[in-house]
Amino acid sequence: MSDTFPLTGISSVAIHASGHDNADYSHLTPIYASSTFTFDTAQQGSDRFAGADKTKIYGRWGNPTFTVAEETIAALEAFGLMGDDGKPLQLKALLHASGQAAMTTLFLGTLKAGDTVLSHFSLYGGTHELLLKVMEQTGIHTTIIDMRDLNLVEEALKNDPSIKMVHIETPANPTIQCVDIEAVTKLAKQRNLIVSVDNTFATPYLQQPFKYGVDFVFHSTTKFLNGHGTAIGGVLLGKDLELMRTHIWKWHVLLGGNSNPFDAFLLTQGMKTLELRMDRHCHNAMEVAEFLENHPKIALVNYNGLPSHHGHAVSLKQMRYPGALMSYDLKGGLEAGKRFIDALQMCVRAVSLGTLDTLVSHPASMSHAGLKREDRIKYGIPDGLIRMSVGIENIADILNDLDQALKKA
Ligand SMILES: *Cc1c(COP(=O)(O)O)cnc(C)c1O
Repeated sequence: MSDTFPLTGISSVAIHASGHDNADYSHLTPIYASSTFTFDTAQQGSDRFAGADKTKIYGRWGNPTFTVAEETIAALEAFGLMGDDGKPLQLKALLHASGQAAMTTLFLGTLKAGDTVLSHFSLYGGTHELLLKVMEQTGIHTTIIDMRDLNLVEEALKNDPSIKMVHIETPANPTIQCVDIEAVTKLAKQRNLIVSVDNTFATPYLQQPFKYGVDFVFHSTTKFLNGHGTAIGGVLLGKDLELMRTHIWKWHVLLGGNSNPFDAFLLTQGMKTLELRMDRHCHNAMEVAEFLENHPKIALVNYNGLPSHHGHAVSLKQMRYPGALMSYDLKGGLEAGKRFIDALQMCVRAVSLGTLDTLVSHPASMSHAGLKREDRIKYGIPDGLIRMSVGIENIADILNDLDQALKKA
């Protein structure tokens, strides 16, 4: 889009921000299914390698379909924000094959052996294992604390000079715990540490971590950004454009975690309806949470839109709406959890989140079945806990399905 016509709304940005034009006047972003890009002359090849000509060179290093997705996500995360220079914030995004691939680029691209990452105990399982298994083997250590307690954050930073990065995930899975991005970033920046935020659950429409001075934002685009459950993907965004274009890009292409043109295309289409979808997801989620909170078979609802939730105040401060993810504990425990899941008629039994349909899972019998029961409970995952990504179906049908399944639970 031209600088002379600044877009004022986030849907306009999602639909028009990437100014990619193509010689064939295709209305939608073409799927550039090509592993390499040709040169007319030796001089042109040389200009491209030197960076004077931005045309693509080789598919692992970049592809025009990826660029459209990357520019769109960068514009969404930067929307309405100003940089340190007082000008509109500029971000650089790198699209990856998966969230895990983007996370790998983040950790290996910024840290070295002997460095430590400080993070919160309620982390996405894949991130937790990547840090404690894979990164640990490279000599990059991880310290896990409860980052909701700012005193613990301050103490950890003071006592361990090897901490180089603070990695925040908020809201976090499956307890929907919220970490105060502004407060934690302030503590980390007093010591010049790198701050990264996993913004997958919130999306840039609900929460913009760059507002608080963080360095990197990460998304599993598999979830709400794609929005339709059609492709796996991940993105890493940074505000140090030079660092992103040189070192981080280099690590990304050497690690080989590139996306593919078809998945990137699906993402470009999905993102256009982000605002519409999120409004409906969040509206439905609030109704579901209120219905469940008063239900006699439910012991507890974790949803940060409810004033009873420990993350309510923090989420009000940093999120536009409380999001579409929640969990709730059935009084009947493990067996009730299984009976409830089996009785659902419309809601879909599946892990993942951020799709148009309502997805429901039972961590104790599924994703967290491998954990010791005491550990699972310590992490806030009791036997009867149900994790739910509320979809955009009509609310009456979601409530009717939950109501009839709860009768059988
Ligand atoms: C899904 C997810 C990831 C990992 O992303 P993939 O696309 O599955 O590799 C990381 N963080 C969060 C919060 C997620 O939900």
